[in-house]
Amino acid sequence: MQSDYDAVILGAGINGTALARALAEQGKRVAVIEKSQIGAGASSHSSRLIHGGLRYLENFEFSLVKEALNDQHYLLQNYPKLVKLRNFYLPVYENSPRPAWMLRAGLWLYGFFSRHGQKARRVENAEFLARFGELRAEGLKAVFCYADAKTDDYALTCAIAAEAKTLGAEILEDEEIQSLTIEAEKITICLAERVLTTSLLINATGAWVDEVNTRFSLPSSYRVEKLSGIHLVIDRVLLPDPIFLQTASKRIFFIIPEKETTLIGTTERSESADVDDIKVNEEDIAYLLKESNNYLKNALKRSDIKEVFIGTRPLIKSAKDPSKMSREYKLDLHRLGKNRLLHIYGGKLTTFPSLAKKAAEMLKS
Ligand SMILES: Cc1cc2nc3c(=O)[nH]c(=O)nc-3n(C[C@H](O)[C@H](O)[C@H](O)COP(=O)(O)OP(=O)(O)OC[C@H]3O[C@@H](n4cnc5c(N)ncnc54)[C@H](O)[C@@H]3O)c2cc1C
Repeated sequence: MQSDYDAVILGAGINGTALARALAEQGKRVAVIEKSQIGAGASSHSSRLIHGGLRYLENFEFSLVKEALNDQHYLLQNYPKLVKLRNFYLPVYENSPRPAWMLRAGLWLYGFFSRHGQKARRVENAEFLARFGELRAEGLKAVFCYADAKTDDYALTCAIAAEAKTLGAEILEDEEIQSLTIEAEKITICLAERVLTTSLLINATGAWVDEVNTRFSLPSSYRVEKLSGIHLVIDRVLLPDPIFLQTASKRIFFIIPEKETTLIGTTERSESADVDDIKVNEEDIAYLLKESNNYLKNALKRSDIKEVFIGTRPLIKSAKDPSKMSREYKLDLHRLGKNRLLHIYGGKLTTFPSLAKKAAEMLKS
């Protein structure tokens, strides 16, 4: 069976499905090819925050934070069942490398860019400790509370995919590409039992982007650094609200209560293996347990961990220190004869609305 499409998108993560929805909205015939299932990649292995990224302010990434907080506003308004505002607490201990004044300044700026209208505030230590009985009191100097949003990343991706399908986009799951040929007038993609032709190919394969480019000899302007991150799922609810904590080496991690479990994350590890071969590293589990136990009265044990999951971030190579690499995305458009090829590089779960809008606008003509 052979079918022609206005656009073929590789990858049904949040970005591929959101762009499918945006193009279908323009009346285009769209197919998405997913080698696994909808949302199987980073879009179901994230920290599930819909946020501007308070810590990116430290790197002066104001435009990224502002755009992400605009997207947060859009998602809170349009997906109230899936994206919810929560109180996040930021305790400052004696050994915290960022002092209270710095957090206060960062929160002020973050509040300035936020559109939900809830102001950050200082919380009395006694009030905080009464609410967070599991946390140790020694060394606590100050506590701040601010509002940010949480989601279920997998459910959100499935919701966007469902909207794309309703608008007519086809999402083909469990499809391995057998061959991809670019001729002057058209691009032909052969699957096991179907052949798709198009003049617009979009590579939205997230952390797999370079592997796909290499395999099919596609031109590209960037390369990604693969940065894995793990989360521990603890078998019970430890705290009433999410908290962000600092490590002595200036890294940040969080403890977030979910329905019946607690999420602890995340880590950052540069990976050179192919994405499908990236595995959870025991050192990362030990790191998260150790750092959490620095703050918890009752130390967590390995047996308290119900699950460990790993995701890979595709960050555009730009700095030596991966934690300083920007979370910004790039839309990389190439013309190949009469065809167009767009790669999506980088990005965050939060910024899929503006990414899809900009890409659809770029591809309108
Ligand atoms: C540990 C971690 C924590 C994070 N936390 C947050 C957070 O709290 N908030 C936030 O905003 N962002 C967060 N992110 C970032 C966010 O998860 C990603 O930016 C986002 O999910 C990327 O979506 P995507 O659609 O580009 O890629 P993906 O969701 O990875 O989708 C790519 C898809 O392409 C498919 N694919 C790969 N190769 C092929 C092929 N050859 N053919 C067809 N399909 C293929 C894959 O199976 C996959 O489904 C986090 C990321 C990680 C890893």
